[in-house]
Amino acid sequence: MKKIKLGIIGCGIAARELHYPAIKKLSNKFEIAAVCNHTEKKAIEFSKLVGNVPYYIDYKDLLKNSDIEAVDITLPIELNYKVARDSINAGKHIFLEKPLAANLNDAKKLIEVSKKTGVVCFLAENYRYDELYLKIKSIIEKNIIGKVYSVIWNVFNNLTLKDKYAQTKWRQKNKYPGGFIFDGGVHNVAALRFLFGEFKSGYAIKKSVNPAIGSDDTFSFNFEFENGINGVLNIYFSVRGFYKNELYVFGDKGSLIISNNTIQIINQDGKIKTVKVITDGGFINEFNDFYQAIVNGKKFINTFEEGYNDIKVLLKALKNSEKRNLIKY
Ligand code: NAP
Repeated sequence: MKKIKLGIIGCGIAARELHYPAIKKLSNKFEIAAVCNHTEKKAIEFSKLVGNVPYYIDYKDLLKNSDIEAVDITLPIELNYKVARDSINAGKHIFLEKPLAANLNDAKKLIEVSKKTGVVCFLAENYRYDELYLKIKSIIEKNIIGKVYSVIWNVFNNLTLKDKYAQTKWRQKNKYPGGFIFDGGVHNVAALRFLFGEFKSGYAIKKSVNPAIGSDDTFSFNFEFENGINGVLNIYFSVRGFYKNELYVFGDKGSLIISNNTIQIINQDGKIKTVKVITDGGFINEFNDFYQAIVNGKKFINTFEEGYNDIKVLLKALKNSEKRNLIKY
């Protein structure tokens, strides 16, 4: 089996804790050939962890290495455009962590560059590959809860500077709108689009309760999909004292309550069937699809265009929340 020689650009939390475990499981498909981090200490540490591979301080030097066929980009969001663009121009296949870019302008430019190339441009939005959302989608498609008419998603996080993500400087001084709402909320939007289709309109309100973790951290979005399903997405990162992530889906024959990778299917008589989903968050599935796209030319769901549509929903909602206007998509 062909092994793809992969360079990893950015040796932080996502590279170490989310991507590396998945790549290790796919060691028949990927070989980490080099890593890059602008601070040498982290580059050396990560290089040691993944097998003493060569490391670079400047990503442009990694891109000059002709052995490397593909790059996995896990960088601060504001660098996504520049580094992905340069990687595409260097002829590397791209696996780019979400969100696609820090703003719609950069995202558009990136799509233009991606269209002019033969390389695979894969947007790493793991929720579309997560067994949990695949299972929810299949329950809805089998009509088990009937026609869906409404959805409510409450994401309540108790995030302080003790959290490893909140400790990253680029999140504290975010150079993109929305702070954690954009960084984290793009997953929820991607999952909602995956499950229920395209957004049609909405209203949003945002707040910054704890600016130390970056701005913003509190967001309430009331929306309607093109197919008439309505919903609310509450993303609160500065809730004190507890954590809860609960998705409710209401159909005319039953309901779903999803929390902690567990789906409760409730019928109209109140009978509950519980389905526990085992998932790694979708990382192995998405690396597998990236591999199939490179080696066999397989079509994949996580295109840069999908990534553009995810961030468009959120960026428009964040912008309109200032004026409290009706958002039209
Ligand atoms: P992180 O821990 O700060 O990692 C980013 C790394 O990039 C850091 O090691 C940083 O080094 C390095 N870096 C910064 N500028 C660089 C440059 N010019 N050249 C080379 N390296 C540079 O952040 P993270 O949490 O891993 O997030 C990275 C990306 O992954 C973001 O896009 C985020 O949205 C995404 N992410 C996705 C998920 C998911 O569930 N899919 C989860 C977490 C993160 P220093 O720290 O030394 O500055």
